[in-house]
Formats: sequence, C-alpha cells, structure tokens
Amino acid sequence: MKRKRLLERDRYQIYTKYGGRCAYCGKTITYKEMQVEHKEPLALGGADSPENYMPSCHTCNHYKHTLTVEEFRKQLGLLTGRLRERVYIYKLALQHGIIRESESAVSFYFERVSEYPEIEECMEVEQRQQLKTLHETLDGVLRHEPADSGNEAEDNIWNQAGYLFELLNDFF
Ligand SMILES: [Zn+2]
Repeated sequence: MKRKRLLERDRYQIYTKYGGRCAYCGKTITYKEMQVEHKEPLALGGADSPENYMPSCHTCNHYKHTLTVEEFRKQLGLLTGRLRERVYIYKLALQHGIIRESESAVSFYFERVSEYPEIEECMEVEQRQQLKTLHETLDGVLRHEPADSGNEAEDNIWNQAGYLFELLNDFF
C-alpha cells in the first residue's frame, strides 16, 4: 500500500497527540525527530489515516517496524532475557546492582495517558472558569432569597441553589 504524503498541518496534529512525546516509550521528541508510525502496520492492512498514526521516536519506530502493538510488547518483554543471555557486561552490571530489571509488564505510554493533553488542560481551565462564574452568580442571586416564598416548587429551587453554592464554596 502506498503511503499518503502528510501535510505539515497533519504532522503537527500527530505531534501533539501525546504532548510531544513518543506514543510508545514516552520519550520527549522534537517535531523534527518525530516519525509517523502506523499503529496497525500498513503491511497487515492497517489504515493510512489519522486514527492509525502514532508519533514515534526513531528507536521505537525502527524496532516496531511491521510488528503489531501486541507483538511489539511481546518482543520488548523478551529483551531482558536476551540481554542476560548474550551481553556479558549486562550480566555483570545486573550482578552488581548497577541496573535493575523492571518486574512490571510492558505498557506503552499511549496506554497510560490521554490523547491531546493540552486540549484537555484547556477544557479543564474553561470548565473551571464556567463554574466560577456560576458560583458568583449564585452568590448574587442567593442574597435575594425570600424568607418564605409560599410556593413549594420555588422553595425547592432556592434550596437546590443554596446546596450548589455550598458545594462550589469548597472550590473557590
Ligand atoms: Zn519511543
């Protein structure tokens, strides 16, 4: 399958997908360093479209190559054994406690974080701002609460507004 040529705009969007980090190892990468990786390999019928694009560092992209995510995980899990078997100085460093092997299963950065973190952060700021405005509005409105409105439905609304105000007080 022929790869689509990506526009700068598309490349930038892929770059920001995990906040400028490699989707697999989580290493910070520059925009220039980023390689656009296909999560599901093209060779295995993966789509050449945005859902399948992953920002990747050179090292991860090179090793994953035509592997699926699960095969990549499996291969990474075998690395310590292979190092112990083949690399004398690795074994030496291990014996001397200079390096320590992780006991946890291999997980990828993209599995531990959310996509487009900056956008999410903006959303949170915006929501907080909206809640703050609501808090101020309620504060103003509640000053005009009648002692007894004489209407059950209206009393109910006042009570709910009061309750909401109390809740928001904890935040602002
Ligand atoms: Zn990486």
